[in-house]
Amino acid sequence: MKLLSVIVPCFNEDETLPIFQKEINKVATIFKTLDVILEILYIDDGSSDKTLETIKKLRLYDKRIKYLSFSRNFGKEAAILAGLEKAKGDYVVLMDADMQDPPTYLIDMYKAVSENGYDCAATKRATRKGEPIIRSFFAQLFYKFINKISKIEFVDGARDFRLMTRQVVDAILEIKEYNRFIKGIASWVGFKTKWFEYENIERSAGTTKWSFWKLFLYSIDGIIAFSTTPLILSMLLGLAFFFLSLIFILFIIIRTLAYGDPVDGWPSLAVIVLFIGGLQLFCTGILGQYLSKTYMETKKRPIYILRESELSNEDSEEE
Ligand code: UDP
Ligand code: MG
Repeated sequence: MKLLSVIVPCFNEDETLPIFQKEINKVATIFKTLDVILEILYIDDGSSDKTLETIKKLRLYDKRIKYLSFSRNFGKEAAILAGLEKAKGDYVVLMDADMQDPPTYLIDMYKAVSENGYDCAATKRATRKGEPIIRSFFAQLFYKFINKISKIEFVDGARDFRLMTRQVVDAILEIKEYNRFIKGIASWVGFKTKWFEYENIERSAGTTKWSFWKLFLYSIDGIIAFSTTPLILSMLLGLAFFFLSLIFILFIIIRTLAYGDPVDGWPSLAVIVLFIGGLQLFCTGILGQYLSKTYMETKKRPIYILRESELSNEDSEEE
């Protein structure tokens, strides 16, 4: 018998959880025929609705369900980490609660890993159909940019829905950093990955927790965490402008010698001052980003704080 841990971060998902659990149960019966039992680990990420109550209710009927509950909302990345730390499975899979990661794929993903010699089965959306155009545009821009400047590969449209062997999970847990970006981390640790593609699926219920602004900040986190190229870019930019100014100085000296020095050109001067000023602020900003990440890392704060948890198989057993 093999154990497959299903990790499900939940933030205000009380509407979607019963639907999810029902679908997982269907898959679980198929898994049984493959000699695999499931452990379902819900991580309540400081939800303000009835998510935790719903999980507890589901657990009344099914002791394969375990849960962790955070003291506040720490974000999906923190929830994923908590799940990976507590999962006991020989195989571990990360899934969203909203059915955008179809449980029916689990069987094929499991087979790829257990039979076909892959360490990891990952998923990506085939197209960005159904997504707002502006969002698609910026998402694609982000992937182009990060792949240019980072040594590891970021797959466009990759989802967090991925099944891993114990070995891969342990490798991911070795990474202790505070600023976590699971897509990058999973790619950074390496291993043989099989990719599954499917069309994007609408949420079963509830609403997305990601605003455009949240996604934007998240993408900056990803870039800063996996590349120091922006620092080099800003340095090169500074250097380029230094040489440009040298050429300008020469030009002005020669022009003054040849034609004298009529006092005009202040508008262009003002523009140049503004431009260089802006550029300097931009580069200082980049520097600040790295500094702030370093600052957060050095504090060594816990990535999440548990309020309550239930990880046992029985009611009487205390974890
Ligand atoms: N999630 C979480 N903490 C957060 C935000 C989201 O645990 O702060 C969970 C959420 O409950 C869901 C998954 O992460 O299971 C993906 O979130 P969502 O569906 O809102 O994102 P989208 O699919 O729109 O990218
Ligand atoms: Mg979703």
